[in-house]
Amino acid sequence: MTQTSGYYQATAHPAPRRPALRGALACDVCVIGAGYTGLLAALELAERGFRVAVVEAHRVGWGASGRNGGQIVTGYSTDMSRVRRLTGADDARLLWRMAEEAKTIVADRIARHAIDCDLRWGYLFAAAKPRHLAGLAEMAEEWARDYGYGRATPLDRAGLAAELGGGAYFGGLKDEGGGHLHPLNYALGLARAAEAAGVTLFEDSAALAVDTDAATLRTAQGEVRANHLILCGNAHVGRLVPAAARRILPVATQMIATAPLGAERARRLIPSGAAVSDTNHIIDYFRLSADGRLLFGGGASYWSDGAGDPARAIGKRMRRVFPELADVAIEHAWTGHVAITANRMPWFGRVGRRLWFAHGYSGHGVLLTAIAGRLLAEAVAGTEERFDVYARIPHAPFPGGRARAPLLALAMAWYRLLDLL
Ligand SMILES: Cc1cc2nc3c(=O)[nH]c(=O)nc-3n(C[C@H](O)[C@H](O)[C@H](O)COP(=O)(O)OP(=O)(O)OC[C@H]3O[C@@H](n4cnc5c(N)ncnc54)[C@H](O)[C@@H]3O)c2cc1C
Repeated sequence: MTQTSGYYQATAHPAPRRPALRGALACDVCVIGAGYTGLLAALELAERGFRVAVVEAHRVGWGASGRNGGQIVTGYSTDMSRVRRLTGADDARLLWRMAEEAKTIVADRIARHAIDCDLRWGYLFAAAKPRHLAGLAEMAEEWARDYGYGRATPLDRAGLAAELGGGAYFGGLKDEGGGHLHPLNYALGLARAAEAAGVTLFEDSAALAVDTDAATLRTAQGEVRANHLILCGNAHVGRLVPAAARRILPVATQMIATAPLGAERARRLIPSGAAVSDTNHIIDYFRLSADGRLLFGGGASYWSDGAGDPARAIGKRMRRVFPELADVAIEHAWTGHVAITANRMPWFGRVGRRLWFAHGYSGHGVLLTAIAGRLLAEAVAGTEERFDVYARIPHAPFPGGRARAPLLALAMAWYRLLDLL
């Protein structure tokens, strides 16, 4: 996988290099992984008076948190009617409310810690086929009727055209409660805030072995003894704690950034400045950056590490939506890994009494990590009630056992075909 997120790295605020862990360290809580989940959990715990250390295998924001589309998407990666079938109506309402609380956490953190990450509100779901319009309207109706959410409005083709240029879509849904931000600068700002609250961060410090009963871990040059461990490795968690990894699957996805388009051309592409995703099975998602580039992502690979040539593959998808960008150079291209679950709901849980985890946001982690961080902190501090609403969501393993990657690749090819029809 490419080591950096290209465009985000090039526009990141300066950040100090944190030392690697050397020798023995004792603390109340040790967090594994310095993406949003780990940083937000650490910050919430430090504010509650815990002594917290974070060990990160690479650098702060190296994983999905430093490479993603930056899109804050309302709700979950699966629709609320499915959530309700999975969990029952009462838990579905709690889950909706907590996803909304996550928006407040993101906005509060950015304001409170003065995190300069280009936060902007406004979201569009764009119908890739005429028949998808009814589904979007039903979704808005369900959000309003069952969850009291009044910020999503269906748009016909002309209504969408006022918000989004290109003409590739048949209408859509405008959601004032979604938005976008610069993902790496958000992560770097959270790290700064965590350190200010007393958290100790170690980079280049992969946890190589974990004892979940003793709440200890070992890195190449150090070891940690804690009262609790929180595992926040998401798609990169590997086999460190197999019991916490078997219901997630890492999926490679790719992004590109064009050359700056100039204010006028950028405005013509997305007059509203909203973040956008389409309604295909294999979604395209895009938005303008603060410096007027189009950032475009899409595709999903269960089979390869996604190395390929993102500039070519994603560039083609981008030009299908915006043919007028045929002459525009693609200046950055990168790959990252999302952790998905079979039902596309996040997977929270614990292994024994002392190791906690939250991951598998299935492409909605910019928002949902905020509630994950809070609930991990609540649970470690002794109040598990809200954490358990997530922990009791039923998750099945991926079908196919060892053959699951080829099977999912086949399923993906089928979905690609459906999108073309
Ligand atoms: C290309 C791409 C586009 C995306 N777009 C969106 C989007 O637009 N909107 C959205 O909501 N979500 C999106 N996502 C998903 C979102 O980025 C993630 O859900 C979110 O960042 C997860 O945060 P995290 O902290 O749980 O994991 P990560 O950010 O992946 O962090 C995990 C960290 O753990 C570290 N780690 C792993 N194992 C160890 C170990 N043994 N020891 C120490 N450290 C370890 C890793 O190095 C990594 O830094 C996208 C993801 C990708 C890759």
